Amino acid sequence: MRRLVFGATCREVSEFLLEYLEGDLLAAQRRAFRRHLFWCRDCVRYIESYRRTLELARQTGASEAPDAALPVPERLVRAILAAKRAGDG
Ligand SMILES: [Zn+2]
Repeated sequence: MRRLVFGATCREVSEFLLEYLEGDLLAAQRRAFRRHLFWCRDCVRYIESYRRTLELARQTGASEAPDAALPVPERLVRAILAAKRAGDG
């Protein structure tokens, strides 16, 4: 497992999303995750679609190698960060 010092930025959320969904994060890390999701709707929306895709993949019996399932696309991370910056006030 990767070392994780969590300030929970959008980038961290996207990087550790799979671990979060798989329950691989420590309690403190999950808390930081949720704290971020509390105020960041971009990440919430992103996670919802990610989770739906994961479930679909499972239902269709796709391979269970989570690493290969869905790498977080770098441009999506950028889009989230850009959207956040635009919405900051
Ligand atoms: Zn975020």
